[in-house]
Amino acid sequence: MADAIITSETPSTSSQLNQSSRIICRVCQKQFSQYTCPRCNTRYCSLHCYKSHSLRCTESFMKENVVEELRQLQS
Ligand SMILES: [Zn+2]
Ligand SMILES: [Zn+2]
Repeated sequence: MADAIITSETPSTSSQLNQSSRIICRVCQKQFSQYTCPRCNTRYCSLHCYKSHSLRCTESFMKENVVEELRQLQS
């Protein structure tokens, strides 16, 4: 009597690779975005797209400098 022990080893290596970093640039929609605007969270791929994605973001940077100058004048 030879008992045949059948061991069915199913490799449970279901490692899910979440490649969620590949997000298309929302400005040109051609290249993968590597940067995120800290103001509106818009994904962009390059500095050129950043400057053209929203004027509010780029203008606000200028306004902050102006506000700081105004505060110094008022104080
Ligand atoms: Zn782009
Ligand atoms: Zn922005």
